[in-house]
Amino acid sequence: MSSFQRFPAAFSVDLEDYYHPELIRRNVATRDCAPRVEASAGPILDILERRGVRATFFIVGEVVRSAPKLIERIVRAGHEVGCHTHTHLPLWEMTPDSFRAELKEFRSALRNAVGDVPCRGFRAPTFSMDRRTEWALKVLVEEGFTYDSSIVPIKGPLYGCPGAPLQIYCPSPTDLMVEAARGPLVEFPAPVARLAGVNVPVGGGFYMRAMPFFLYLRLVKKVLRERPFFLYVHPWETDPGIPRFKLPRFARWATYTGISCMLGKIERLLDSIQFTTMSSVIEKSRF
Ligand SMILES: [Zn+2]
Repeated sequence: MSSFQRFPAAFSVDLEDYYHPELIRRNVATRDCAPRVEASAGPILDILERRGVRATFFIVGEVVRSAPKLIERIVRAGHEVGCHTHTHLPLWEMTPDSFRAELKEFRSALRNAVGDVPCRGFRAPTFSMDRRTEWALKVLVEEGFTYDSSIVPIKGPLYGCPGAPLQIYCPSPTDLMVEAARGPLVEFPAPVARLAGVNVPVGGGFYMRAMPFFLYLRLVKKVLRERPFFLYVHPWETDPGIPRFKLPRFARWATYTGISCMLGKIERLLDSIQFTTMSSVIEKSRF
């Protein structure tokens, strides 16, 4: 590891299609969109393969159904499989029962596509795990998950848990913002770094697309001197060929900014930082 990398880093992909993001679902009818995830995800898999990096793919069940060969390729390459729900609805729009049904449907789709592969990690669509939806942690434990990676410890425009721990921790069963000495589930919160006196999310996605690379890398290095880090990317945000929807100004800016530079930024990040899977980072952190 490089000298600044005192802690391990995970590479994660939220494997969804260009019509799944919340800012699109809220603004356009997406029912008849043609899947493109296979074309979008291919270059990311090529980069990981070329560099011998194993990553974690949090997969939407609908994508397992639309692109089973892609899931086969991910499993064959030795990447870790995690769950990103079946339909990509945020937890705010689910109940404990409908969430459990989503997890079961996801596992059934996964089993049909690739047989019994381990799947212990979960990431909520739109990082929608917060005080309103903390019932979901109990459902995750009951459905066989051992870690969650859905909390962003700042207040963002769509999501966030300001004040939650910044490091990997066991959430208390009565309050997901409080660290317990031990527990059945581990939380790996989205990384944030101090910039001009405020905590800025630096896990990837929009923030990585929008920031100049030198600034982004500086913030990631800052995190890695203090605690473990994870990167998250979506295949659609690396694919200049995705169909573009007519969206309101904020949604258009947040969704389509910086897509053409993203694969290059990923390559440059891999030049500087050693990555592995989410599970491996959690294990190295002795959870
Ligand atoms: Zn997502």
